[in-house]
Amino acid sequence: MDTGIANILHRGTIAVLAGARTFERGERCFTAGRVASCEAGRGELRGVVRPTEAGRAPYQTRLWVRADGLAYECTCPVGLERLLCKHTVAIALAHLERQRADASQGLDVLRQALEAIGGAALIDGLLGLARRDPELGDALKRMCLDALSKG
Ligand SMILES: [Zn+2]
Repeated sequence: MDTGIANILHRGTIAVLAGARTFERGERCFTAGRVASCEAGRGELRGVVRPTEAGRAPYQTRLWVRADGLAYECTCPVGLERLLCKHTVAIALAHLERQRADASQGLDVLRQALEAIGGAALIDGLLGLARRDPELGDALKRMCLDALSKG
C-alpha cells in the first residue's frame, strides 16, 4: 500500500500550503509539461522539473511526510529555504493526476493486487505474459534496464 503521501496529499492541502500565487505558478509549470519525472516512494515524492531558462540544471524536488506534516526541498532558491516552491507544487499535481488516471482505469486496484501477490508470483506471471507477447517482453526488458540504471 502507498503509505503516508497518498493520505496527506490532496489538491486542496497543497493549495493552502503553497498559497494562491505559488499554487497557480506550480499549476502552470505542470500543465506546460515541465515535470520530467515523478516517483512516489514510502512517504515521499521525488521529481525533476525542467527549467524554462536555457543552460540551467533541472530542478530536483522532494516532498515527504514528517510527524508534524509535510516537508519539502528543491534545488531552486525557494526550495533551498525548505519552503514550498512552484516546482514541488508541480510534482504534487503530477502525482495526483497520475493517481486519478490510474483510478479511472482500475490500475489502483491492480496495483494493490500486484502488491498482494508479491515477488515470485509476479515474476512468473510477467514471464508468462512476455512469452505470449514479445512486445511486452521488450518493454519489460527496457523497464528493468531503466530501473537498474537508476539504482
Ligand atoms: Zn523549486
